[in-house]
Amino acid sequence: MSFSFADKTLRCRECDRDFVFTVGEQEFYASRGFTNEPGRCPECRANRRIQSGEGGGRREMYPAVCAECGQQTQVPFLPRGDRPVYCSSCFDKVRSYQ
Ligand SMILES: [Zn+2]
Ligand SMILES: [Zn+2]
Repeated sequence: MSFSFADKTLRCRECDRDFVFTVGEQEFYASRGFTNEPGRCPECRANRRIQSGEGGGRREMYPAVCAECGQQTQVPFLPRGDRPVYCSSCFDKVRSYQ
């Protein structure tokens, strides 16, 4: 199978603007094994990355004690003591009560 790359104009599904999927990006995608084209322009992709908190490496985790079962757990925020903290299995349980 052989195919050659050429700049492609795609439409962003987020902001509905046209953007260029360049040869360089296509080669990058292909080298990573991605087979689909990007659905969003570089700007919207960057915005999403910021919103989802990626790009800064690992999320910091804090040790906590589950208010339900008393087990040690880790939470992605600093427990302040004014709200109960649950381990992931109790969190699911507690949430299903509501
Ligand atoms: Zn966009
Ligand atoms: Zn628990």
